[in-house]
Amino acid sequence: KVRLEDIKRRFNNVTAIEEISFEIPDGEFWVLVGPSGCGKSTILRTIAGLESATSGNLFIGDRLVNNIPARARDVAMVFQNYALYPHMTVAENIAFGLKMRKINPKIVQERVVDVARSLSLDHLLDRKPKQLSGGQQQRVALGRAIAREPQVFLLDEPLSNLDAQLRDDTRAELKQLHQQLGITTIYVTHDQVEAMTLADKIVVLSGGRIQQIGEPQGIYARPANQMVATFLGNPP
Ligand code: ATP
Ligand code: MG
Repeated sequence: KVRLEDIKRRFNNVTAIEEISFEIPDGEFWVLVGPSGCGKSTILRTIAGLESATSGNLFIGDRLVNNIPARARDVAMVFQNYALYPHMTVAENIAFGLKMRKINPKIVQERVVDVARSLSLDHLLDRKPKQLSGGQQQRVALGRAIAREPQVFLLDEPLSNLDAQLRDDTRAELKQLHQQLGITTIYVTHDQVEAMTLADKIVVLSGGRIQQIGEPQGIYARPANQMVATFLGNPP
């Protein structure tokens, strides 16, 4: 599980997020939505350990991780702008996290092929990043992050740079990968369709606070307030 207890983050005198509390059961796929500046990335970065909370407690599994550095958290994060290792092939990029962990090379090879197949990259394994399209590079970034099967997978608008068709395809692949691996996932998006189709639960944020948490259909049918209704495209 991932549990946030009253997390707050201030930058100088600006409060980015406050009173952020929720608990994600193992294996669920949660989506954070809300207008620009509402605190979505700050929440993900705090969970990843790239940012530290001003106050509050954060648990990953049963472990309080407030003071645990990012690399020791067993969390993988993918950003809008992927950063691949330019000198490595697609296969080597995907294998990177596995090799770091000294996993048996045969298992690494199998895992790489599996993940590549799920993300339609199997014909590109020997290419270098610069020989790929933007969409293909982003899929490699997703593959690299998920191949090592982190305890928590964090995605910050990972598809927003892709064209509509590629976004639909990659969204479907991500969903399938999630069903296969069952990794607890938190996904930030501006895209209402992504939120509605991917989420077990949606967290709607505004002004650094949670407005509503619920299943997509429940929130859509019974928005807690005007802001939520407008944001999910079902204004009263
Ligand atoms: P977007 O949809 O535009 O990516 P977001 O929901 O991810 O927005 P955050 O990046 O989490 O929003 O920012 C939340 C608030 O915190 C904003 O008001 C932002 O200006 C502020 N903020 C974020 N990072 C910093 C920082 N390093 N220093 C100062 N203020 C920051
Ligand atoms: Mg953001």
